[in-house]
Amino acid sequence: TTFSASSVYSLSNFYSELMKGVGASERVFELIRLQPAIVPSEGKKINVLGNIEFRNVAFKYPTRPTHQVFGSLNLKINKGDHVCLVGPSGCGKSTVAQLLLRHYEPLSGSILIDGQPLTDVSLASFREQTGVVQQEPMLFSGTLRENITYGKMDATEEEIQKVCDLANCTNFINNFPDKLETVVGSRGTQLSGGQKQRIALARTLLLGHRTDKKVSVPEAYSSRGELLLGPSILILDEATSALDAKSEEAIKRTLKLRQEAGLTTISIAHRLSTIKTSDKIVVFNHKGVIVEYDNFDKLYADPKSELNRLLSKSESGEETEEKDE
Ligand code: ADP
Ligand code: MG
Repeated sequence: TTFSASSVYSLSNFYSELMKGVGASERVFELIRLQPAIVPSEGKKINVLGNIEFRNVAFKYPTRPTHQVFGSLNLKINKGDHVCLVGPSGCGKSTVAQLLLRHYEPLSGSILIDGQPLTDVSLASFREQTGVVQQEPMLFSGTLRENITYGKMDATEEEIQKVCDLANCTNFINNFPDKLETVVGSRGTQLSGGQKQRIALARTLLLGHRTDKKVSVPEAYSSRGELLLGPSILILDEATSALDAKSEEAIKRTLKLRQEAGLTTISIAHRLSTIKTSDKIVVFNHKGVIVEYDNFDKLYADPKSELNRLLSKSESGEETEEKDE
């Protein structure tokens, strides 16, 4: 198998690991009160294929019980799809990711993974096969190499090179005198937002997925047979928002390869150039209701579509963003 266990998820897995490791001390109960309402259970270990379904999901954040984010969300994403979630700021796009990663539980309704309730699946096993890159990814103080191989310490030189190419990092890394040994973080070289996003993507691509099936993307395999396209489910939450057009084009090719390999990608974006790269678009209104779910081309061609209304809004400068390089 091309799967390799990873510690990149250690932040999200920290809690469940902790719960496994300690007894019912008072400290634990304190933590339970502080944490979102997830009670990690020893669920089934599954090989995630990447079919996702939100079924009548209702949700409010526990800290904001007066504000309903979703009343009854229904959303189906098939294995190998590249879906883009769009909608006004605050409509619930990131919350979809939060719920999928089980950082929170729905108030009612269910989330199904390959037809099984997410609550029946081992949380650790699920999170190992689900990757997320955020808008402002966290890099720790250390070298670029350490940051990239954090989840796969045994990555070969060839594999590091390949994921750097796939995430369009190679050029800027080679422009640093120390290349992969460049120290980043508070005391080291400061990276731009777009450079951080690409390093985080490279790191995520090193995380294999759990399958024995060969897929027809030979260019994304390393010579020892590792598929370098990331986990079964990848969430990019505004994760390419700071990229220049050329980098975005390169990453678009990588996401196409994921699709060919049957891996599921969920992008959250508001830039047309990013939205364009996914084939299906989910449009939310400000109340967290899905108002359109269709092919990009079809929605884009319809001058009356909600997608076009949103795009014309952002063109008129209601939303700004930084770009680099
Ligand atoms: P989007 O990603 O579409 O901009 P979010 O999913 O982040 O929107 O937010 C949906 C709604 O939930 C917003 O009203 C937001 O203010 C609220 N919200 C987001 N995160 C939290 C949180 N951790 N606690 C309380 N409310 C939150
Ligand atoms: Mg968001």
